[in-house]
Amino acid sequence: ELYNKVLELRGNIRVFCRCRPLNAEELAAGATMAVDFESAKDGELTVMSNGAPRKTFKFDAVFGPQAEQADIFEDTAPFATSVLDGYNVCIFAYGQTGTGKTFTMEGTEEARGVNFRTLEKLFDIIRERQTLYHYDVSVSVLEVYNEQIRDLLFSGNQPGTTARRLEIRQAGEGMHHVPGLVEAHVNNMSEVWEVLQTGSNSRAVSSTNANEHSSRSHCIHCVMVKGENLLNGECTRSKLWLVDLAGSERVAKTDVQGDRLKEAQNINRSLSALGDVISALATKSPHIPFRNSKLTHLLQDSLGGDSKALMFVQISPNESDLGETVCSLNFASRVR
Ligand code: ADP
Ligand code: MG
Repeated sequence: ELYNKVLELRGNIRVFCRCRPLNAEELAAGATMAVDFESAKDGELTVMSNGAPRKTFKFDAVFGPQAEQADIFEDTAPFATSVLDGYNVCIFAYGQTGTGKTFTMEGTEEARGVNFRTLEKLFDIIRERQTLYHYDVSVSVLEVYNEQIRDLLFSGNQPGTTARRLEIRQAGEGMHHVPGLVEAHVNNMSEVWEVLQTGSNSRAVSSTNANEHSSRSHCIHCVMVKGENLLNGECTRSKLWLVDLAGSERVAKTDVQGDRLKEAQNINRSLSALGDVISALATKSPHIPFRNSKLTHLLQDSLGGDSKALMFVQISPNESDLGETVCSLNFASRVR
């Protein structure tokens, strides 16, 4: 309860910054760290250039290169509880390609990420509450690429074919939905794991270069929860969105043409639309520009109002990435 109060005071949006470690290649090349973690405290983070402090940012939490998946999840877990309490929740990973967005959200088999851990937490709480509540959980996995929505669970997806395209429809006030989107009903973690695997497999086979493709599309998991209070029959419906965003790196217009330029423009458009929406919500602006991108349109019912949002801004510690790092930190400061 205290936690919810804190969130309210902060406008229901929290921003966590996570910095990946230098990788073997960077270490071998003698890369310089551009982020000062020794003096990092209370969510403050200072970026350095040429050994001198350049700018300090403040977030709700800062996780350095040593932070483990479990540490990250400790501060993320309360959002899972909120979903079962009937709140809509959006969790995003934002940042330059290669900074650990997928590592944070998806993780690996040995170091599972937020997606898996959040669902695991949901099922733990569901078990704890089973004498008082009945919950029904289903999952959709989709991708937004070039402003087109694709269903990654649709079984008609065959290797080499394009996944089915879908549209957003509005059925009434606060009732946006995607007709035809597969909603996989899940009863336990092994079913969840299967669904997550199906989603990531179908993402990989739909393109010739899976890595490049994934850095240019938003990968979205939507967890739909229906709750029923067994004592008074009261029902709740809530959604949890887990979003691994497209890479935020700027692409010089002079460097790219054709399809690549169109992709870059679409990514730019949807990420800035997301920033605009979140900052409009934070400043209680009367007009929230949800319609400016497929991503914000899709999430419309789950952003604002009573909902809660968490953004991971992912950064590289390498001084040679400093330009992108500062851009990402500026973006995240704007939404906070
Ligand atoms: P992105 O999705 O932002 O492009 P990835 O999640 O693919 O980035 O991460 C790039 C590489 O760095 C991967 O090999 C990943 O395993 C590794 N990595 C990222 N963050 C961490 C971390 N915190 N600890 C260890 N390895 C990491
Ligand atoms: Mg990725």
